[in-house]
Amino acid sequence: MKVVVLYGGQSQEHQVSCVSAAGVVQELAGMADLSLTLVGITLEGRWFLQDQAEQLRRAREEGTLGITPDPRALLGLRPGEGIVDAEGTLLAADCVFPVLHGAYGEDGTVQGLLEMCHLPCVGSGVTGSALGMDKIRAKQIWEQRGLPVVPYITVNDRSLDGRSVGGCTAGAARDAVERIAGTFGFPVFVKPNAAGSSVGITRVEAPEGLAAALERAFRVDGTVLIEQALAVREIETAVLGNQDPRTFPPGEVIPSHQFYDYEAKYTDPEGAALKIPADLEPALAQRIRDISREAFCAVDAAGLARVDCFLQRETGEVYLNEINTLPGFTPISMYPKMVQAGGVTYAELLRELISLALERARHRS
Ligand code: ADP
Ligand code: MG
Ligand code: MG
Repeated sequence: MKVVVLYGGQSQEHQVSCVSAAGVVQELAGMADLSLTLVGITLEGRWFLQDQAEQLRRAREEGTLGITPDPRALLGLRPGEGIVDAEGTLLAADCVFPVLHGAYGEDGTVQGLLEMCHLPCVGSGVTGSALGMDKIRAKQIWEQRGLPVVPYITVNDRSLDGRSVGGCTAGAARDAVERIAGTFGFPVFVKPNAAGSSVGITRVEAPEGLAAALERAFRVDGTVLIEQALAVREIETAVLGNQDPRTFPPGEVIPSHQFYDYEAKYTDPEGAALKIPADLEPALAQRIRDISREAFCAVDAAGLARVDCFLQRETGEVYLNEINTLPGFTPISMYPKMVQAGGVTYAELLRELISLALERARHRS
């Protein structure tokens, strides 16, 4: 079995991907029946074949992978065939594991490229990835299925009178303030529609803060959603499988910051506590697992996803927040930890993901 691991990538989550991939490749490198190829994708989007020994050393010593952009190791893609090296020789690959987060990794684009090269790919395909990354469209599908989502409104940068985003959100902000007043009121969360790791997200307490938050979000995406800010517990569920996926006992993220922001996720070691399993009544835990499973199937996700729910403190209501089709994947990340707590080791999880990718590719062809 020849497995290609893709990491890095063109999104704001490039560094996070390098850390996730360090965990994955250290584990895969220890599997005798498996040969591993490492492909680093630079921020500019170029693919470079990496020296495995060098990267494994970095993974062990620094806990992350790096990317050496040696022009002789530049790779290309040949539709209908696969990944080729600088000489045009096809790289042997039975399965590709995109350990990528965010744009051009988690959003269906790389999945489409791989599909055109007939390469089985771990995780969701084009549709599931694209919908999972698109917070608004995922919500629309979930709402249609009667699944509970947090109240929201959307703001498009086309509503900014065609002017450039920077410095011109005053009109759009005034308009949004009115719409918020007419619906759920402040405080709110302002989020770029397609992003992750809390990049571009601001909690806004009062109308004065909205323009700056919109501007920040529009720097990441041309479509922004504004949600009612709820006082919540954050409950996450690991989903694993294709058509008939299983779920694991949910975990809880307890941020020490005002919300689970980028720093709490990655730079502040005390930014959040993870509690696995979450302390929940069994019936409630089951309901959250059922919602997560339905949310996964509704957007056509495959392989793996972490479905994040909110449990409203006052009312006990469950809301779907979002689905992450390529969640953080270091051995200490929430997804692998919840699966491990459910009795599946990190190594077994990686093997299962690869076989799910092959299964999905068989069904397609
Ligand atoms: P990302 O895809 O970047 O993780 P999320 O939608 O999960 O974006 O938002 C990041 C974090 O912001 C959440 O984990 C939570 O802490 C906080 N948050 C987001 N939306 C809300 C909301 N409507 N009410 C309360 N907290 C929220
Ligand atoms: Mg996300
Ligand atoms: Mg999130």
